[in-house]
Amino acid sequence: MRAYTALIFDLFDTLIDFRRDRMPLIQVDGTEVRSTSRHVYDQFKTVCTDVPFEAFYAAFMDGYREAERIRAREWREISSEDRFRMVLSRLQVAPDDVPADFPEWLAEIHMAKLSEAMVFPAEHRPLVEWARARYRLAVISNFDHAPTARRLLGESGIVGCFEHVVVSAEEGVRKPHPEIFARTLSRMGLTPREALFVGDSLAIDIAGAKGVGMDVAWVNRDGQTLTDGNPAPDYTLGRLTELRQIL
Ligand SMILES: [Mg+2]
Repeated sequence: MRAYTALIFDLFDTLIDFRRDRMPLIQVDGTEVRSTSRHVYDQFKTVCTDVPFEAFYAAFMDGYREAERIRAREWREISSEDRFRMVLSRLQVAPDDVPADFPEWLAEIHMAKLSEAMVFPAEHRPLVEWARARYRLAVISNFDHAPTARRLLGESGIVGCFEHVVVSAEEGVRKPHPEIFARTLSRMGLTPREALFVGDSLAIDIAGAKGVGMDVAWVNRDGQTLTDGNPAPDYTLGRLTELRQIL
């Protein structure tokens, strides 16, 4: 095993869990779905009074799918604000007819609701504090709203443990793009061989970090099997706290 100077963590489903089952359950066309759309719509309709929920929901999902297509194809981040600009454009809401900060406002409402589905496991705090005493730490997160990522880390009580919290919404590029790893290493004055990346996604974290020459610990809580075409991680953990045993 290499002696590492730094540990760089993915954020969601590595340090903080995204619990889809905690998302609001709503009815759309007689089907139950987990979505923040009803809460966002309740605010949206105070400004755009003549759009029915069904039309809003269709545009809300179209905006999401279009953002996801661009993210997957170009490894470029679409911010939550830009996603809501797409939603408004699909609804043919002219920017001049709504408050200038309307997309930001909708993004804030969406994020406030989404945040309720984010859970920081209690066992992660002593692990991060243990790591902080021995290594330099950073986070690289694919997330479309940087203030929310930082606020959730703040509420978890660990944000001060990280020298850098690098969020794709601010960088423009997303993992597995090599640029977001390279920028983080450069800001820390590190070579790839000096840092271990810790993340849960084979295609995003493991492929991305291995692609720039970092060692990787894969947090594989669901017991996934490695697929052909993905580089193998250097270590596999059943849960994040097993990190102590490999370091
Ligand atoms: Mg993740």
